[in-house]
Amino acid sequence: MDTYEPHLYELSAPGKHGANLPGLDVPETPLPAALLRQDDMNDFPSLTEPEVIRHYTRISQRNYAIDTGFYPLGSCTMKYNPKLHEEAARLPGFAAAHPLQDAGLSQGALQLMYELQEYLGEISGFDAVSLQPAAGAQGEFAGILTFRAYHLDRNDPQRIEVLVPDAAHGTNPATAAMAGFKVVEVKSDARGNVDLDDLKAKLSPRTVGMMLTNPNTLGLFEEHIVEVARLVHEAGGLMYGDGANFNAILGIAKPGELGFDFMHYNLHKTFTTPHGGGGPGSGAVGCTAALAPFLPGPRVRRDASGAYELFIPEKSIGRLKVFHGNFGMLVRAWTYIRSLGAAGLREVSEIAVLNANYVRAMLKDLYPQAVDRICMHETVLKGQIAGAQGVRTLDIAKRLIDYGFHPPTVYFPLIVPEALMIEPTETESKRTLDAFIQAMRQIAREAVETPDLLHQAPTKAPVRRLDEVRAARQPVLRYDAEAFARIREEAPR
Ligand SMILES: *Cc1c(COP(=O)(O)O)cnc(C)c1O
Repeated sequence: MDTYEPHLYELSAPGKHGANLPGLDVPETPLPAALLRQDDMNDFPSLTEPEVIRHYTRISQRNYAIDTGFYPLGSCTMKYNPKLHEEAARLPGFAAAHPLQDAGLSQGALQLMYELQEYLGEISGFDAVSLQPAAGAQGEFAGILTFRAYHLDRNDPQRIEVLVPDAAHGTNPATAAMAGFKVVEVKSDARGNVDLDDLKAKLSPRTVGMMLTNPNTLGLFEEHIVEVARLVHEAGGLMYGDGANFNAILGIAKPGELGFDFMHYNLHKTFTTPHGGGGPGSGAVGCTAALAPFLPGPRVRRDASGAYELFIPEKSIGRLKVFHGNFGMLVRAWTYIRSLGAAGLREVSEIAVLNANYVRAMLKDLYPQAVDRICMHETVLKGQIAGAQGVRTLDIAKRLIDYGFHPPTVYFPLIVPEALMIEPTETESKRTLDAFIQAMRQIAREAVETPDLLHQAPTKAPVRRLDEVRAARQPVLRYDAEAFARIREEAPR
């Protein structure tokens, strides 16, 4: 943005204020000295209400969001979040419930949690569900701690290795390492499946289990899933399902029937709760009856009289989150499932897969496919455009911003050079997909004819290309007049 926008601290002046409190109509009573604030409050800017409103509204408008446009960020399932869910989550009986209120006063909220447990179990083919974890990554942690508890309970303590494919999301190896295990990488084969020979070579009596995403991060259904699960189980290991890609198979395949023992659901991805701003999410988990006693709690069950109550499973790995997980997300997911019904959920996946394949088919002549196969709900292409000199996937992604689109996920999965991972989701119209396809094809032409347009992009965004590494390593999170002046000075115009 070329026009200079003062920060709130620069607009601050003594005496400005944004609140008009009514005059005192009770006798004035001095506060006890111990309750009085001792340090001065000059750290806070003094501002009028319109200044504050304009500041926050302006910066909110700089954000790209699913409510403003197409957001094909692969693996993140940025589908449109129906506003009905917001209304449900704001019902006072849910929004204003206190997490410590008595079960007798919380039957509605507990019923919703119970039903969501049941629905998720049914959709995925698992016997038991816990709604505790706050995100997919925490669901993974719950799963691997559950595997550890299960093996220890069976007096099988030598299992210390977790198998993770080379295509996996970074949270998978991070989870295994955080749980204290050794990560053993398993190669992918030329069709994008787990390499069965490599898997066999790496299974042993030390195997805790395997973490697998299906469809995997190449957007491909694991063709040997039944065989993979059989091999892992034969070695005494357990199968962890990373459910981030569940949007591809709702109502079509059940992970519990494919051989998985445990899985997390990213409710904020598949079951539409708003995400992308960093939270809150929900990484509910489901598992087989054999693992159910170890699940994190509390879970919800019905007592003999039919009333809903919270309980901690008998050998539980414990709590992962205060109270009942991110309850507002549970309300949204419940609303989504109930408003679509079984047939609607299946249709979600059918259209998600159709949309991804449409984009794939319309772009693969210009952007080579990572693996030449029909995809599931997302497709991984490569930003290697024939005849383009010195153009990288990053340039293509930045140029898309100039065309008004959020870029796809780039450089993931790590095994695909110059990866462009496109997940259109089912909530986009053919018109939107066609506009995106047209922009991508135009960019491919520019890459050959006018590559500088790509190197300079974005030119139409509030800021130009950012130094992302420096932003991560030296974040400026508080107002600092000198730092702001320096950043403004250095910013490209
Ligand atoms: C998003 C994602 C995760 C992690 O889920 P969070 O909810 O972001 O913690 C794990 N695996 C895959 C494949 C993902 O896409």
